[in-house]
Amino acid sequence: MKALAVYPGRPGSLHLEELPEPTLDEIPGGRGVLVRVLRVGVDGTDREIDAAEYGEAPPGERFLVTGHESLGEVLAVGPNVPPSLKPGTLVVATVRRPGTSPYDRIGRQDFTTDAVYFERGINLRHGYLTERYVEDCEWVVALPERLREVGVLLEPTTVAEKGVDQAYEIQRRLRIWRPQRAAVLGAGTIGLLATLLLRLRGLDVVCYSRRPAPYLNSELIEALGATYVSSEETALADAGGPFDLIFEATGFSPLVFEAAQALGKNGVLVLASVTGGSRRIEIDADAINQGFVLGNKVMVGTVNASRDDFERGVAELVRAEAIYPGWLGRLLTTPIQGLDRYEQMLDALNNDRDAIKVYVEVNGR
Ligand code: BGC
Ligand code: ZN
Repeated sequence: MKALAVYPGRPGSLHLEELPEPTLDEIPGGRGVLVRVLRVGVDGTDREIDAAEYGEAPPGERFLVTGHESLGEVLAVGPNVPPSLKPGTLVVATVRRPGTSPYDRIGRQDFTTDAVYFERGINLRHGYLTERYVEDCEWVVALPERLREVGVLLEPTTVAEKGVDQAYEIQRRLRIWRPQRAAVLGAGTIGLLATLLLRLRGLDVVCYSRRPAPYLNSELIEALGATYVSSEETALADAGGPFDLIFEATGFSPLVFEAAQALGKNGVLVLASVTGGSRRIEIDADAINQGFVLGNKVMVGTVNASRDDFERGVAELVRAEAIYPGWLGRLLTTPIQGLDRYEQMLDALNNDRDAIKVYVEVNGR
């Protein structure tokens, strides 16, 4: 069976690997789910893994099978798998696996305090860019058949869903928080999906990103009834704030401190960019601090997502298809036909600025 793997530490090492077939008995307790992979999306994390800036192989192995945004179909299940998962069921597997912290022990490894974390396709666990995989049913989420076309967007949706949900959880402190205006920074996949989720919650949303409109991403933002603003034309301070909620997903960390100042009183700023660089800037420390103190503002980081976020994500994708029909499908700009074409996949990921979601059609269609 074929898989796409890297040699962590060696830049540009993405290659085809031959793997043994996974089997149900690899999972204890009769809880195994054997899945045929249909589609796998790739993102900036995969780009960094191929550049050897990120990612580790499983202990004792030379390579790491990549791919963490999966969509597949159940082939077979062990005797103790709940009936919601049966052959033919459309499924997405979560990414992070438990370590040992108390959070991990309650299924919230997305909040782990362990020094290491285990993420399929990213860190210490093989991923889904392969023909088949096996997983414990605990980490396999069922999708309705009507999400077959767009279900590959579930994993990135959960990253946005966790961030938005965290904002609302935190703001329960205010007892009557009724956010009206939100800003999403960045119009990549996560920014687009965060804008969608906030529109589904009824907020006015400004999506602020670099490239001047019009282009596909700005059109998608406008199609949600949100407003697109280019940072080349407008400073964030003039983009329509103050905002009750800001979701940062640009990958450009200096913008965080501008966002802190565009945040309204009692506002919440959600940080979701994994910035691996070493950028340094000068900031208005007193003004930002004072604004946070006198405005009772919150800034929160968010990574990964829980099983609950996946389940809520499924419901949100279904709602999105009903309220904005066809919108999610327009994100699927760049299909790659088969694992063999991984060079084309990398080229699209690294160089195609018009690509929104690059994804591999694993078993052909
Ligand atoms: C993935 C998350 C993961 C994060 C950090 C993202 O690309 O979508 O699931 O937690 O990278 O590794
Ligand atoms: Zn990702």
